[in-house]
This record gives sequence, structure tokens and C-alpha cells, in this order.
Amino acid sequence: MADCIRADVIVIHGLVLAEDDQGEPYILTDGAVAIVGDAIAAVGKSEALLAAYVADEVLDVEGNIVMPGFIDAHVHTMQTFARGLCDLDHPDRRPLAGAHDPMGNAAVWAQNAWLIDTGLRDEEAAICARLAIAEMLKSGTTTYADVCAFNVDVLATAIGESGIRAVMAKNTSDLRDMAMPLPDQMVRPTQSEIEESLRLHERWNGAFNGRLTVWMGLHALWACSDQLCTGLADAAQQLGTGLSMHLSQTPGEIPYALEHRGGSRPVPHAEALGLFDGRFLAIHSAYLDSGDIDIYARHGVGVVHCPVAAMK
Ligand SMILES: [Zn+2]
Repeated sequence: MADCIRADVIVIHGLVLAEDDQGEPYILTDGAVAIVGDAIAAVGKSEALLAAYVADEVLDVEGNIVMPGFIDAHVHTMQTFARGLCDLDHPDRRPLAGAHDPMGNAAVWAQNAWLIDTGLRDEEAAICARLAIAEMLKSGTTTYADVCAFNVDVLATAIGESGIRAVMAKNTSDLRDMAMPLPDQMVRPTQSEIEESLRLHERWNGAFNGRLTVWMGLHALWACSDQLCTGLADAAQQLGTGLSMHLSQTPGEIPYALEHRGGSRPVPHAEALGLFDGRFLAIHSAYLDSGDIDIYARHGVGVVHCPVAAMK
């Protein structure tokens, strides 16, 4: 024991999913992980690590998997209380009719979710965020990306308290010209949305030992003017941070863009605005043609499809 290296925690007897120095994944039965501070010091067979390391805390996790945390690339924690309000079969919750309803079947869900979104007091928002984050941590998600229109400081605080790693962005909107209007509170002057996004970055980016990263966030093409789009794209590039947007989420978004936003599909329009010149995360993007996909590939756009949401 005298020659043993001191670790803070040793996890033993797990089925370890790891990767080697070349980044190749491998599975280790009866595996162990030695942790020093907040870093993994060693991965190996339980017997070997117990011979090499000593720690006050040894966790026997026999029967369990030890693996890197899951990453969820799109969450609205502040809509957690809206769960269960999206039963599309209910006669009162039919999709809204509208020639250019950009959200299609998602309209009903979104309107219900926004009612919750816009009505939370800070103390309720804190509970909402804590619940969502606790559920993620409980199911193995250790990093996630959040877009949040209100109570942004409450959310940042909840992230800090929880221990989770997060990317968050103010979900900005400055436009209401569609068949499905956003609630009044969600549509803000362009400049105030930009300033609030910058304030959020200034206050919280890198907080909690770097666990929280702040991006710029555009709600969607039908909710964001070209001026807001370019303003936040410029801000993201100047700050060296990312930009996210719900884009080509539903079929209705395509005729909307063709008829109301310069005659292009949503993806070429976003490209023309320069949104893909920096790091960009396209949210949903369930309705792409081969030209859209080529554009994404050319710019290295990240896409989070959220297939379960798309199937609703
Ligand atoms: Zn979303």
C-alpha cells in the first residue's frame, strides 16, 4: 500500500465504456476508474487499479455501466411544466389553421408551452429548471444545451447549483408576422434582444469553473428579423461563441421563407445572412433538401434533429 497512488475516488467492478489514446472506444469488464480531483487519473481492470491506487472512497458499482455522460444538444428546461399539454388528439388542441402556419402540428404544443414559458415567476422558474436538470443528471446526462426566453438568470443560477455542464442562450424573438402569433411578452425590440444576449454572456459565460457557456440564440426564422439574425451572428463571432436557431423545423417554414423572406428556402436564407460563418447549431432541421444539406456540410453546421419532437 505504501507505493500506492492516492486518488479521491475509485469506482470498481463496473462495465466500463471508454476510449483509448487514439480515441477508439472499448469495453472493459470488471473495470475500474480512479479519479483525482475532477479528473480521471486511470482506467483499468479493478484488480489492477486497486493494486495501484488507494482512496478513502471506493464505490463498488457491480452490475452497472460506467461511461461518459450523455450530451443533450437541445432542451427547454423552462417548458418542463408544459409537459402533458400537447395531446394533439384532443379536439381543443388541434393544429391551428393558417395558410403559412410555420409550425404546423407543433403550433398547439408551442402555444401551450409558451403560456407556461411566459407566466413563470422566478421562484416557479427555479423549480422548473431544477426539476429538468435533476431528471437529466439522474438519467446520465451531464452536459446539455438550453434555449430560454425568460428567467435567464434564474436558469443560470440553477445550472450553477446543480453541477451539470451547460450551454445556454437567450431564445430571442423580434418578429410577429405569421398566422401563429407569439405571445406579446416574447416579441421584443431587436436591439433589446441583442443587448440582453450580450448581458447574459457578460454575466455568466465561463461561470462555475467553466461549466456554463453562453451562446447567442435565435428563436426561429419566422420569429427573428434579418436584422436580429445578423446582429446576433456578428456578436457570436466577435465573442468567439456559438449561435443556435430552430431552422427548417416544420414544412410550413419553407413556404413562409419563400414568400416572405426573400424567395429562398430557410437554409439558403440563413446562409446568405452569414449565420453559418461562425459556429452554428441548427435545431430540428427535419425538413431539408439536398441543397440544404450541402450548405450545412460546407459550413460544418451542427444539427440536432430531436426526432421525438419531430414525430409529434
Ligand atoms: Zn426548441
